[in-house]
Amino acid sequence: MEYLFTPAIPPSLPILGHAARFPVRRIFCVGQNYAEHTREMGGDPQRNPPFFFAKPAQAVDVSGEFAYPMASNNVHYEVELVVALDRGGTHLSAQQALHSIYGYAVGLDMTRRDLQAQAKQAGRPWEAAKAFDHSAPCSPLVPVSECGHPEHGAIWLDQNGERRQTGDLDQMIWKVPEIIVHLSHLFELAAGDLIFTGTPAGVGPVQPGDLLQAEVEGVGQLQVRVLPSRHQ
Ligand code: MN
Repeated sequence: MEYLFTPAIPPSLPILGHAARFPVRRIFCVGQNYAEHTREMGGDPQRNPPFFFAKPAQAVDVSGEFAYPMASNNVHYEVELVVALDRGGTHLSAQQALHSIYGYAVGLDMTRRDLQAQAKQAGRPWEAAKAFDHSAPCSPLVPVSECGHPEHGAIWLDQNGERRQTGDLDQMIWKVPEIIVHLSHLFELAAGDLIFTGTPAGVGPVQPGDLLQAEVEGVGQLQVRVLPSRHQ
């Protein structure tokens, strides 16, 4: 195969204890999957079917740094459990969904909240708010063989040593296998897909210089330094 120019190397995540990396295909994100966060965003936390948005694979970032993005003055952290699939398909059963999971990670669904508010008000898509460059900082992956399938456990985020977000995985409105089942009725899932499973309450804005430290109990930790914008 001859290409007009050299194709980009696929984005990937390191895997704890393995030399091989996990190549990222697509990034799906669940909106409002913790009741308290749904309330803080002005929503009604009923068990409505989950809704999804996406980020490009190139949004994953394992550098431990997050440069303040363009075009926003209100960029929020959202700590989330990340699910990584090594198989896929459509119309999966709950059992098949569970077996499609390779491992888990800790991720941040960084959000240009001002652009999201504008989009919501205008009834427009969320791309500019959610799918921007480097908007998915992520920890190394932990294989299921190491961490099992975490169904409960603390999920938290500290900003400069102050606890901002706290929750427990057992507060998810839609559990991980249910999320995968729903997604598989909308998209053909495949090896390399990541799913950000929603954030607990306490989201807030970041500033250059901030240190964000996050953990999902039983999965791992993620530390991200917020840097000044690279675009001024
Ligand atoms: Mn989110």
